[in-house]
Amino acid sequence: MGGLCMAVQLRRVGIDSFVMLEKEDEIGGTWRDNTYPGSGCDVPSHLYSFSFEPKVNWSRKFALQPEILDYMKHVTRKYGLRPFIRFNTEVDEARFDEAAGLWRIRTRAGEEITANVVVSGTGQLNRPFTPDLPGIESFAGKAFHSARWDQSVDLQGKNVAVIGNGASAIQFVPQIAPKAKKLTVFQRSANWIVPKADRPYTDFEQRMFRRFPWLVKLHRLQIYLRLELNYLAFVRGSFFGKLFEKASLKELEAHIKDPELRAKLTPDYPAGCKRILLSNDWFPTMARENVDVCTSHVEKVTSDAIVTRDGVSHPTDVIIYSTGFVTTTFLAPMKVVGRNNVDLNTAWANGAEAHRGVAIAGFPNFFMLYGPNTNLGHNSIIFMIECQVNYIMQCLGALRNPKVRYIDVKKEAEDAFNRDLQEDMQSTVWAAGCSSWYKTADGKVTNNWSSFTAKYWWQMRHPDFAEYRVVG
Ligand code: NAP
Repeated sequence: MGGLCMAVQLRRVGIDSFVMLEKEDEIGGTWRDNTYPGSGCDVPSHLYSFSFEPKVNWSRKFALQPEILDYMKHVTRKYGLRPFIRFNTEVDEARFDEAAGLWRIRTRAGEEITANVVVSGTGQLNRPFTPDLPGIESFAGKAFHSARWDQSVDLQGKNVAVIGNGASAIQFVPQIAPKAKKLTVFQRSANWIVPKADRPYTDFEQRMFRRFPWLVKLHRLQIYLRLELNYLAFVRGSFFGKLFEKASLKELEAHIKDPELRAKLTPDYPAGCKRILLSNDWFPTMARENVDVCTSHVEKVTSDAIVTRDGVSHPTDVIIYSTGFVTTTFLAPMKVVGRNNVDLNTAWANGAEAHRGVAIAGFPNFFMLYGPNTNLGHNSIIFMIECQVNYIMQCLGALRNPKVRYIDVKKEAEDAFNRDLQEDMQSTVWAAGCSSWYKTADGKVTNNWSSFTAKYWWQMRHPDFAEYRVVG
């Protein structure tokens, strides 16, 4: 989504001298990779799309993966982006050549590409994390990650083990449970789960959207404002957070009668600390006869079972890892080397951070989309990406001046921004006790934006070039 958005805006201002490097053989990013049953978005479709390319005929409130991928292909087609994409081109290294004021990019195939400006759009959730389970090498069945779903595996009548119960598991487990002989969810922590107000758009609604495009804008605005309000739930100890907890517990009590199971499914941390999940079928699925929730840790895997710490052996034919992604080492495994040969890994030794999520001191003319501290728990990432693209386009405007070789954000400006951000963060639930993919092992929240998206939008309207060293 980031790359496509950037490319559309470049073309809009007549810049055609760019190339998009894509490691796979098709566009789509997360929506190409996550093909598990039930894969979809928990942000309403009319907001989970570009402001400049509204889609009047979203089939339902929360679109499923095929429709979102189709939308991305439509954008690619409509704006003539394919000729700019080089598929199967993985970047190994990007190195800044200060004398020339150029980035030298080395691909996996060993080719060197030079560029005045580099914009990364590699996402925060593209490298699946798979735990190293003792004995997994002896397992005779199939094992795969939810983000690399093995479509050739038939789960009918099988004993299925699902490790993890986050945003992905919650979507596919209800789809596969009816097929499985027995499905066991290996749960480390329970989640706060609230109902999903999903339904198909009626023909009438779609006709109205087509006939009166301003209605789409109005609907989008209404969704945006409603989601924006949800930020209040992420303020530590807030009344709104308690409302989510109440709604979630009500669902739990309505569907789960067994007190032992209810206790297992009740979270022990404040709502929002991990992503609040939307589902209407998770609790009913957990109550099924053929579904079990195991909270004992996995001790080892044998050829045909998972053995947990409590000594129970769970017969297993298929293991599905729904264990999330490697999230806090942004841009890895690419090696990015800035001025004075500083490696980004060194610059980020204490956790990734950036100026307004897009620029890093010492890495001139290098910009990120969906970079550090730009993830959200309450609103659409596409909104954030559009703010970033708008900001970067204005930086490119400055760079079009032939007297300017590069711009490099000042370390003081970056530090001041991050100090404020981390201070803000202290009042959020993300800084509270629970572990999540939003933070490093040391507890620094590196992934999330710390406030309303409107605040981000305000800050990103225009770059303040006093915050940059402009080198000519
Ligand atoms: P996730 O939310 O990070 O969940 C990973 C799960 O695996 C958690 O339950 C975690 O337990 C568990 N886990 C991790 N390591 C484990 C280990 N070694 N042993 C046992 N359990 C382990 O990952 P995800 O479900 O793939 O979702 C990631 C993010 O993708 C979401 O937060 C969301 O932003 C995005 N996503 C979005 C949508 C959408 O609708 N827009 C859908 C899917 C995903 P703990 O909780 O105890 O750590």
